[in-house]
Amino acid sequence: MSTPDAVAPARDELEAALTDLARDRGRRPLLVGLDFDGVLAPLVDDPDQSRPLPAGAAAMVRLSTTPDVRLALVSGRSIVDLHRRADPPVGTVLVGSHGGERGTVGPHGLERDPVQLSPEQSDLLTQVGAGLAAAARGREGVWVQHKPAAAVLHTRMAGADDAETATAQALALAAELDVHALHGKDVVEISVLPVTKGDALVRLRDEVGPAVVLYAGDDVTDEHAFARLGPEDLTIKVGEGETAARLRAADPAELCDLLASFADALAV
Ligand SMILES: [Mg+2]
Repeated sequence: MSTPDAVAPARDELEAALTDLARDRGRRPLLVGLDFDGVLAPLVDDPDQSRPLPAGAAAMVRLSTTPDVRLALVSGRSIVDLHRRADPPVGTVLVGSHGGERGTVGPHGLERDPVQLSPEQSDLLTQVGAGLAAAARGREGVWVQHKPAAAVLHTRMAGADDAETATAQALALAAELDVHALHGKDVVEISVLPVTKGDALVRLRDEVGPAVVLYAGDDVTDEHAFARLGPEDLTIKVGEGETAARLRAADPAELCDLLASFADALAV
């Protein structure tokens, strides 16, 4: 299905849906939720080098200043990391750690709600971090990232054998400790808080009360969000693969270009 003939109608369909939504003032307020990596920014080997595409940055600025539009970035990153990499405009809601953290970009920087872990959850997080470190040990290109409520095994830079073994070990660890594991593209994230992007997005929607939610994501973890939204919402899968989303963009560049035009049309 990934022939050029099959891709072109998907782009046209997405563009038409965005044009309709921008024109229809009856479908406001609007909540725009965007994943960061693989959506506003192309996927890169080193997550510290991730930057939004210029069109994505322009779209964020325009969306954040449009009346009746609320912009939220929804990411697996910690919100401090997300804030640093995405450089989102004032007023943007940041949902980090797959919903484990929330904050808002204020005039003087990130205003965050800190993660509150119980003593049991803190102990569990220590065990998770140690277990993943053991899975990574001696395997080139496998490394562990520590977040406020989770630890993440990264295998993107590892060979296939090392990646497979380390991933299996991480999933076994999660099963053994009876904690939540998210298996995404070259990552296994083990969180001590039971959260998904879907839970976080629904909570935000209930607070904001929009007529329509637009949500774009590229990873398996975004499927939780797609699945929780309704037929009146716009769900956009970026890239290839099975999805519950209604619409599709080929890659971050295509999504950001269309999003920038959409944001301009909304602001008219
Ligand atoms: Mg992503």
